[in-house]
Amino acid sequence: MAGFVEARLVNEPFSDPGVFLDVRFGRRAILFDLGDVAALSAREILRVGDVFVSHLHMDHFAGFDRLLRLNLYQERCLRIVGPPGLVRGVEAKLAAYSWNLLGPHSADFSILALDWDGAGFRAAGVFRARDAFRRRDTPFPDLPPGILLDEPEFTVEAAVLDHGIPCLGFGLQERLRVNVHRARLDEMGLAPGPWLTQAKRAVRAGFGPETRFEAAPGRTMSLGVLREAGVLHVGPGQRVAYVTDMAASAANLDAAARLAAGADLFFVEAGFLPDDEALARAKHHMTAADAGALARRAGVRRAIPFHFSARYLEREADVRAAFEAAFAGHGKGAAPK
Ligand SMILES: [Zn+2]
Ligand SMILES: [Zn+2]
Repeated sequence: MAGFVEARLVNEPFSDPGVFLDVRFGRRAILFDLGDVAALSAREILRVGDVFVSHLHMDHFAGFDRLLRLNLYQERCLRIVGPPGLVRGVEAKLAAYSWNLLGPHSADFSILALDWDGAGFRAAGVFRARDAFRRRDTPFPDLPPGILLDEPEFTVEAAVLDHGIPCLGFGLQERLRVNVHRARLDEMGLAPGPWLTQAKRAVRAGFGPETRFEAAPGRTMSLGVLREAGVLHVGPGQRVAYVTDMAASAANLDAAARLAAGADLFFVEAGFLPDDEALARAKHHMTAADAGALARRAGVRRAIPFHFSARYLEREADVRAAFEAAFAGHGKGAAPK
């Protein structure tokens, strides 16, 4: 059964890291990290409303320009969240161009940039095209601890990891999984349509059983009836986690394992071969064995390793084998607890 979001790596694992999360039925997408995004179509880029940047190393932020270029004449707001320094980074990127052709007549495109440090938001800036992208202060969102985005159907959580500099790991949590039992729908003489999408959305957002939808002309159905009849199945929501660029320290592994716990899909950096552990440590990265052991410890359903060091271009199979061995409980890696 298709999930709430379809998540995939933006690039092959030797190129810039990043995950594109396409929210089904929502005409909305999310990016975890903003490196090279040339592989995404303009249509996909224009669905992105929220970007979460792990840290400001170039391979995680250099795609800002493509995002900006495609959005410049659109009437929309883009939200970018990252570690401390993100707002300043966005400001500096925007300051690199001449904006004399922008003014009150321009499309109302804006960027809301937010710094988050693990305890909460620490800086917020809004940059409007109509304002020639001058930085303006704006209030911080008031969200529970660990939450970067709080939507009716899902949340995005984060943890601060250590990569020599703070690096954020992310988790998207669907509140509830709502599936449609097509045979039951047929039995009731109902056809799928926008009403069903709205009904599913209402369940995820916590609306009560008395909430009604026009399922067919002149025929309304309540959420309670749809659930009792088995048309709508409700279960725990989908979880997608993303962890990259972190040292394999005990504190990092604990925090990353919490973030990824029970994830349906876990994207995890597997930068180095276990033989090059010393190099991985020096660069504040994990080995493929560390990553596999982490995925195993977190009890994820499916793990996708990425961000392989270019030094292994000819040895991709070895990196994958080291990862899979540790994920299966064999091989060398940070010991599971
Ligand atoms: Zn990095
Ligand atoms: Zn990186």
